[in-house]
Amino acid sequence: MSKFRNNKNRNLKERCLIYLGGKKCQNPKCGVSHLPPQCYDFHHTKGIKEDNISKMISKGVSFEKLKKELDKCVIYCKNHHAEYHALR
Ligand SMILES: [Zn+2]
Repeated sequence: MSKFRNNKNRNLKERCLIYLGGKKCQNPKCGVSHLPPQCYDFHHTKGIKEDNISKMISKGVSFEKLKKELDKCVIYCKNHHAEYHALR
């Protein structure tokens, strides 16, 4: 059962990545696109952050609801996401 849930969450993450234009780090210095989906994070750039996308996925939030949050995000690879927050 838990395995099924993980698969479902992974598919949902892929759907979110595709929704934002496919897996590709949107840091202009990077642009890495060959990594597996788990190496990408959703980074909020605009609007008010209601929740963390990964957290919403694990909570089982519907894709319709996720889209509203995704509209405020760009895709970063884990490295650049960590770097961004380390610099603040
Ligand atoms: Zn990157």
